[in-house]
Amino acid sequence: MSLRKGVFHVIATPIGNLSDITLRAKEAMSEVDILYAEDTRHTSRLCAHLGIKPKLRSLHDHNEEGRIAEVTEHLRSGLSVGLVSDAGTPLISDPGYRIVAACLEAGLPVSPVPGVSALTAALSVCGLPTDSFLFKGFLSSKSGARQKALSELKAERATLVFYESKHRIVDSLADIQATLGDRKVCVARELTKAFETVLQGPLSEIRQLIIDNVDWQKGEFVVVVSGAVEVAGELTAEVQNLLLELSNDLAPRRAAHIVANHSGVPKKVLYNWLLEQKDGKCGSASSS
Ligand code: SAM
Repeated sequence: MSLRKGVFHVIATPIGNLSDITLRAKEAMSEVDILYAEDTRHTSRLCAHLGIKPKLRSLHDHNEEGRIAEVTEHLRSGLSVGLVSDAGTPLISDPGYRIVAACLEAGLPVSPVPGVSALTAALSVCGLPTDSFLFKGFLSSKSGARQKALSELKAERATLVFYESKHRIVDSLADIQATLGDRKVCVARELTKAFETVLQGPLSEIRQLIIDNVDWQKGEFVVVVSGAVEVAGELTAEVQNLLLELSNDLAPRRAAHIVANHSGVPKKVLYNWLLEQKDGKCGSASSS
C-alpha cells in the first residue's frame, strides 16, 4: 500500500481484541511519516504487538489545539500524517475533532481508515432497532446533571446509546430507569475481550443482574436503550408543536380539530391544552 502524501489519516484501532486491527490500519500506521496518538505509551504497545515502529507524537485533549499548526504544516509540506486514539475510532468520544476541523478548513485532505468502534459493535448485538439511533457519548458523572440530560431524551424515538464507566454503571442505570422508565436495554460490557458480556432485557432486571454480580460491574460498558414508543392519542411534543404552529394562523378550535384528526388525541384535550398555553399557564411545548 502506498499511502497518499499530504493527507491526514484517521485510523481506527481495536477496542480489546488486538486481532481486530484491519490490514489497512496496520499498513497506514507503519507507513505514515508521523503518527499522532492519544497516549504514545499505549500505542507503542500496540505497535510492538504489530511489529511496526512508527514515529509517534502525542495528541490528546490537553494539547490538541496546540498541535493544529504543527499538523497542518506537516501536511502542507507533503508529509503523510496519521491519528489513532487509545481504542476504537478517533473522534468517537475521543480526541481529534478540532484537528480534523482545522485540516478541512485549511483545505487539507482527511481520509478515514475505518474499523472498530464500541458504538457500532454494541449496536450490532443489542437486539434493538438500529435504523435510527442517537449516540450521546458519556453521561455526566453527577446524578443531577445526568437526570436532566436524560429527561430531555424522554420523547426521543431513536434508540439511545451511551458510553459508561465501571464507576457509574449501576447509578446511571438507576437514573435511566427513573427518568425514561423501565425500557428495554442492552448492556454490552468488555466487548471483544475475554469477559465479554451482552445483557438484554427490561432495565430493572438487567440492573439487578449487574448489582448481584460484582464482576459485571467491572470493565467498559456501552448502554443501549430503546427509544420512546409512540402511543396513539398521546399529547407528544410533536403533537404540541404542530398544534402551536397551526394556532398561529387558525382559531384554537379549528387548530385543535385538524390536529385531532391527524393525531388521534381528543379535540377537547388539544383545545384545553392550547388555551392553557395561550393563557401562559404551562411552560414549554418540548415535554410530552
Ligand atoms: N473511540 C472509542 C470507540 O470508538 O468506541 C471510544 C473511546 S471512549 C474514551 C471509551 C469508552 O468506550 C469506554 O468507557 C466504554 O464506554 C466504551 N468502550 C470502549 N471499549 C469498549 C469495550 N471493549 N466494550 C464496551 N465498551 C467499550
